[in-house]
Amino acid sequence: MNATVVGGGLAGCEAAWALAERGVEVTLYEMRPRVSTPAHHTDRLAEIVCSNTFKSLELVNAHGLLKAELRLLDSLLMDVAESARVPGGAALTVDREVFSAEVTRRVEGHPKIAVVREEVAALPSPGVVATGPLTSDGLARVIAARLGVEALAFYDAIAPIVSDESLDHAALFRASRYGKGEGDDFLNAPLSRDGYEAFLDALLEADQYAGHEFDAIPYFEGCLPIEEMARRGRDTLRFGPLKPVGLPDPRTGRQAHAVVQLRREDRAGQMWNLVGFQTRLRIPEQQRVFALIPGLERAEFYRYGSIHRNTYLNSPAALTPHLSLRDDERLIFAGQLVGVEGYTESLATGLLAGRNLARMLQGEAPVVPPRETMLGALMQYVHGADPGHFQPMNANFGLLPPLERPERDKREKRARLAERALAAMREFAAS
Ligand SMILES: Cc1cc2nc3c(=O)[nH]c(=O)nc-3n(C[C@H](O)[C@H](O)[C@H](O)COP(=O)(O)OP(=O)(O)OC[C@H]3O[C@@H](n4cnc5c(N)ncnc54)[C@H](O)[C@@H]3O)c2cc1C
Repeated sequence: MNATVVGGGLAGCEAAWALAERGVEVTLYEMRPRVSTPAHHTDRLAEIVCSNTFKSLELVNAHGLLKAELRLLDSLLMDVAESARVPGGAALTVDREVFSAEVTRRVEGHPKIAVVREEVAALPSPGVVATGPLTSDGLARVIAARLGVEALAFYDAIAPIVSDESLDHAALFRASRYGKGEGDDFLNAPLSRDGYEAFLDALLEADQYAGHEFDAIPYFEGCLPIEEMARRGRDTLRFGPLKPVGLPDPRTGRQAHAVVQLRREDRAGQMWNLVGFQTRLRIPEQQRVFALIPGLERAEFYRYGSIHRNTYLNSPAALTPHLSLRDDERLIFAGQLVGVEGYTESLATGLLAGRNLARMLQGEAPVVPPRETMLGALMQYVHGADPGHFQPMNANFGLLPPLERPERDKREKRARLAERALAAMREFAAS
C-alpha cells in the first residue's frame, strides 16, 4: 500500500505518521528549502511559524480538550511537544527548534516514510494535501482548477463569534430585516445616537494589528475591516453593516439610530456572529470596543475577528464529511487548508486524514469522531457550516452540542462537556 502526502507541516507530518504506523508506504513531499514561504525560516518539518505555544492544557479550555483527545489518538506531534516543553504555566509551550528538529528526526527516520524535498503541482491519489495557509501558487492554481475557483480563498476576513450565554438578551431583540427569513436567525443590538458616536470614537482610536509584511492585504470592498469602514465617514457604518432600516425595535416600534446584527452560527443558537465585523483590531481592543455594543457588555468570544493572507477551501461547498474530494474519496485535504485555524486544529485534521486514508486503503470506510468530541465538532463545522458565510474556525465549546441537563456554572459546564467528549473519544479510539 502506497500513499502520498503533500506538505511537511504540522498536518502533513501527522498524516504521514498515521499512515506509516498503519503499514502504508508514504512519500512525503515538502518544498522547503528549495522553495520557501513568506512565513517559514528553516528546512525543518513541522516548523511552527509564529507563537511557540499550543495553548492551554486545561480540560476546561477548548484547546486543552482537543489536546487530550489527540493523545487518545496517539498524536505524534503532541508526544514531541511534551518532550520539547518549556515552562509556560497551564499552556503547552515548546522550544520551537527542539520541536521541529525532533519531528524531522522521527519522520525522516520512519522506515515507511520517504521525504522528498520538492514542490508538488498536482493532486495525488491516494493522498493527503496539507500545504497550509501559504500553499504554493502552482498547487493553488491546480486546486482551483479542480474544485472551481470559487471554492478557494486567498484571504480570510473573520468576524468575531460570541457565546449566547454571555449576552444580555434583555438589551437585544430578535428580527430579520424587513421580516424576511426566520425571525430567529438574527439578534439585534439597537444603538442610540450617543451610543453610536461613542462606539465609533472607540473604534477609530483602537489599536490594530499591523500584520506581517506578506499580510498587507488589498482590501476588497465587500469585506473591508470594520475600522476601515468607520474611517471613511461618521455615517458610513450606519449606511453599511449597522444600518437600522427594516429593523424596528418591537419594544418601542421605532427604528434605532444604528443596529448591530448578530447572525446565528449554529442550530442550537450557542454561537452568534457579529455581522460585518471582520477586523484587524488587537484582541484586547476587540474585547474593549465591542463591549460598548448594548447586550455585549460581558461578551465571551469563541472566535476573535481577524484578516490574514490565508489559502483555504470552502470545505462545506466542496468536500465530503471526511474532507475528501467528492469525486475521489481517497484524495483528502487537511490542516489549515480545510478552514481550521491554529496549530492544534491543523495537526488534528492531519492525523484524522492519515487514519482515514489508511482505513480506505485497507478496504474500510472513513470515520469521523462523534460530534460530542472537540475534533468531531470541528470536522462537523468545517463540513457542515453555511457555505455562503464560511470562514476558518478554531476549537471552542460553542461547537459542541449542548448538555442534556443544562448547567449554569460556566466552569462546571465545561468540565461536563469535556468529560462527555473524552468518554466519546475513548470509545471512538478503541473502535
Ligand atoms: C504567519 C502565520 C502565523 C501563524 N501563527 C499562528 C500561531 O501563532 N498560533 C497558531 O495556533 N496558529 C498560527 N498560524 C496558523 C496555523 O495554525 C499554522 O499556519 C499551521 O502551521 C498550519 O498547519 P498546516 O500543516 O496546515 O500548514 P503548514 O504548517 O504551513 O505546513 C504546510 C507545508 O506545506 C509546504 N508546502 C506548501 N505548498 C507546497 C507544495 N506545493 N509542495 C510541497 N510542499 C508545499 C510548506 O512549505 C509547509 O511546510 C499562523 C499562520 C501563519 C501564516
